[in-house]
Amino acid sequence: MKSERETTESSRLESSSSETDAYYYRARYYDASPGRFLTEDPVGFLSGGINFYEYVENSPLSFTDPNGLQAQPGGACCDDKKLKRGIKQVQDAFANAAATKSAIFQKYAKCLQKLANDPDVKCGPPPKNQPTACGYHSPLSPSTTFITPNGSTGQGGCGPTKGTIAHEMVHSCIQNDLAQPPMNTIDEEKQAYGIECQLWGLACNCARDPKKCGY
Ligand SMILES: [Zn+2]
Repeated sequence: MKSERETTESSRLESSSSETDAYYYRARYYDASPGRFLTEDPVGFLSGGINFYEYVENSPLSFTDPNGLQAQPGGACCDDKKLKRGIKQVQDAFANAAATKSAIFQKYAKCLQKLANDPDVKCGPPPKNQPTACGYHSPLSPSTTFITPNGSTGQGGCGPTKGTIAHEMVHSCIQNDLAQPPMNTIDEEKQAYGIECQLWGLACNCARDPKKCGY
């Protein structure tokens, strides 16, 4: 699945200059969700704050781990059981007819169900400059959702894991949709928090006003 996605992205890069521009624009986007008060700072990424490349270099086995649930060696580990349960809860919610009452789910239904049914969810350490992040995704692979140890347990200010997973999947769908112009950070957070709120009543205050949650 991973190599398939990479092929797709490579094809996109070669297809046209405007798409290439869009890809790179979004490639700079970086999301560190919950903690509920963290900022998203593309410049921070560009200045190396995320240390994603460093992470990949230091932990190539972890990064490509097919089970996707191993934390960075030496770091805190995710609770694999809770993480897997969270994925299952997201699958159930997305598959359930009740979920379609969510306008945000409906908006991204096709993409979200695809992501949930073939989840590429990995445990990853929080970015060094955002140690309380609950989840994030890599600009190198927008379809991959990373959940931090705190995010996998709902500790440290993180909400339930299902919410963090769904939140990140909305970001993935928005950022993978290269047919649409890039969405600004606040609007994107409204969508990402919005699905948590509409499906489970989580983080509704953040969905109403992401600025109050640090964005
Ligand atoms: Zn977010």
